[in-house]
Amino acid sequence: MRIKDYYKNKPVFSLEIFPPKPGSPLDGVFATIDALSVLRPDFISVTYGAAGGSRFYTVEIADTIKNKYGIEALAHLTCINSTKEEVAEILGRLQKAKIENILALRGDRPADQSTIPPTTDFQYASDLIKFIKTKADFCIGAACYPEVHIEAEDAMADLHNLKRKVETGADFLITQLFLDNSIFYAFREKLDKLAIGVPVAAGIMPVLNKKQIERITSLCGASIPPKFRRILDRYENSPEALKEAGIAYATEQIIDLLSSGVDGIHLYTMNRPEVAKTIFGQISGIRKHLKAET
Ligand code: FAD
Repeated sequence: MRIKDYYKNKPVFSLEIFPPKPGSPLDGVFATIDALSVLRPDFISVTYGAAGGSRFYTVEIADTIKNKYGIEALAHLTCINSTKEEVAEILGRLQKAKIENILALRGDRPADQSTIPPTTDFQYASDLIKFIKTKADFCIGAACYPEVHIEAEDAMADLHNLKRKVETGADFLITQLFLDNSIFYAFREKLDKLAIGVPVAAGIMPVLNKKQIERITSLCGASIPPKFRRILDRYENSPEALKEAGIAYATEQIIDLLSSGVDGIHLYTMNRPEVAKTIFGQISGIRKHLKAET
């Protein structure tokens, strides 16, 4: 099924997982899918390594999600450093596995190439979307950035680029992680003003480790609000306490977003099914109530 159709009965609940490093066995990620499947998400997405690393496994893992577990799969696909032939080959493999949904991304520039202009066939995610559309009829998602993409000229330029991406063919959007819901609500208002009307799922990451979230936010440009900074500072040396607080914080964000009528919650699981299970357990009544309403 095409993911854009799930958003007709919002809210949509989705989970994100990542493949193992090249050469590592797939058993761990298959166990993760097995554990996550009991949560009955509307779809599970699988990331794709921009720099070649964990590319190969994405299709195989998406195939397992869709064809073994009967859960809709969203295969991420990046285009930076890829040729049209390479992308066409992946599209062929996805079609063969009957995967209908792609999250079309540019990908991050590898650190050592950051000052070199891309030497590939694609410059932006919109180029990838255009290319996919010439090849096959996939349902296409794209990324968006409530706190502005780190390389964007400014917030308005980023929004106009996003609009172009949607006009090129993105059917739905998933946000970069954010830790302050008011930033998401302000972003939604800006999208409405620009008539960007596709569904927008909120990307939520339960934070379990101070160093990790500091590294991620420094790379992606998301901010750490004072309320969460206090949690990190207070519990940084107690993994158990930080885990509990991180899960509670993410759950609170989700409850607020659901009450405000968000199109979807996309949980960055970091391949930690027990964390996703705890969060989904906390909102099971809310989820039941919202499903009954649709
Ligand atoms: P684009 O939409 O191409 O935007 C990149 C930058 O270019 C932005 O600053 C934008 O404003 C600007 N821009 C766009 N079009 C134009 C134009 N025509 N002219 C000038 N400027 C333009 N990375 C991975 O490697 N693998 C993954 O699986 C992965 N999954 C992700 C999932 C989600 C939900 C999100 C939010 C991010 C994910 N990323 C992933 C990270 C993503 O690849 C990076 O954020 C990357 O830097 C930008 O990708 P994009 O598709 O948003 O790029």
